[in-house]
Amino acid sequence: MSYRRCGRSGVLLPAVSLGLWHNFGGVDAPETARDMVLRAFDLGITHFDLANNYGPPPGSAEETFRRILGSDLFAYRDEMVVSTKAGYRMWPGPYGEWGSRKSLLSSLDQSLKRMGLDYVDIFYSHRPDPETPLEETVGALVQAVRSGRALYAGVSNYPPELTKRAADLLSSAGVPLLIHQPRYNLFDRWVENGLSDVLLESGVGCIAFCPLAQGLLSNRYLHGIEPGSRASKPHGFLKADQISEEKLRRIRALSTIAEARGQLLAQLSLAWVLSRPAVTSVLIGASKPAQIEENIAALANIAFSPDEIAAIDAACLL
Ligand code: NDP
Repeated sequence: MSYRRCGRSGVLLPAVSLGLWHNFGGVDAPETARDMVLRAFDLGITHFDLANNYGPPPGSAEETFRRILGSDLFAYRDEMVVSTKAGYRMWPGPYGEWGSRKSLLSSLDQSLKRMGLDYVDIFYSHRPDPETPLEETVGALVQAVRSGRALYAGVSNYPPELTKRAADLLSSAGVPLLIHQPRYNLFDRWVENGLSDVLLESGVGCIAFCPLAQGLLSNRYLHGIEPGSRASKPHGFLKADQISEEKLRRIRALSTIAEARGQLLAQLSLAWVLSRPAVTSVLIGASKPAQIEENIAALANIAFSPDEIAAIDAACLL
């Protein structure tokens, strides 16, 4: 594993981090969840990303993680960076979502309880709240850090201008913005329209979520929707209608380029994200340990020639 500095901070993150959004909930096999976390940690993945609502049911991924910490990993807590988030709908009523101080701090307390932790390493505002003043949301992140419930603050899904304002507010409160968590993959490059520049200028790290577009940017769907795949599950966020003929055309072309590099498409996709200027880490998901092994092997080659980049860009527009 290689470790990369997160913006202008003291934190080094593994180039590949593991997210527990899918496949770690109450509906999933606990032994597989444990195998994946332990295999990841053994391979140097020291960063595990959660959120209050990961499951299903919401909250259950944090509970699964507590059980794995309890049985195997508590002794290694200081070797790990654990993150959680609040912002999407988590409990009924007006305080169970968005970015008020009330919602963020209550949610963080609930997450700590579910994970059996005294603190998380990173606490995120999961999405911008158009109704709550940014000062209030940022104030809650500052409070989370000052109270010792989180070591660092992060934002996710914030557009460039709001990210800049959040970074400035946090900085003037003495709690610099550590990291931004945006969706970033070959098919979704919105980060390049301003956000990347803000992050580089402000010294904020970037951890890219859905680097495989939920599995689309791999060989997973080249031969249809297999049982057990995310798109086959009723609670999966990847829906069959997102696997269009147009996407498959691009996926096949990218797969050919990957092959010429001696990589699998998943490996090319991760390598591409890791080669982007602002990116600190790719935040992968997995349904079995073998995928984690395969994905880490992407690190063997994350350099691209100008010709390869041109071919990849052309394939994404087919
Ligand atoms: P990916 O884009 O990496 O997709 C993961 C899925 O791709 C796996 O579940 C698996 O699908 C498939 N896959 C993984 N490796 C391979 C491989 N080598 N070959 C074939 N298929 C493979 O990421 P996710 O969509 O899972 O998101 C990752 C993390 O990002 C989340 O866990 C979460 O922490 C974070 N996230 C944050 C969001 C935010 O708003 N901040 C939103 C969404 C995610 P299958 O299950 O079919 O095997």
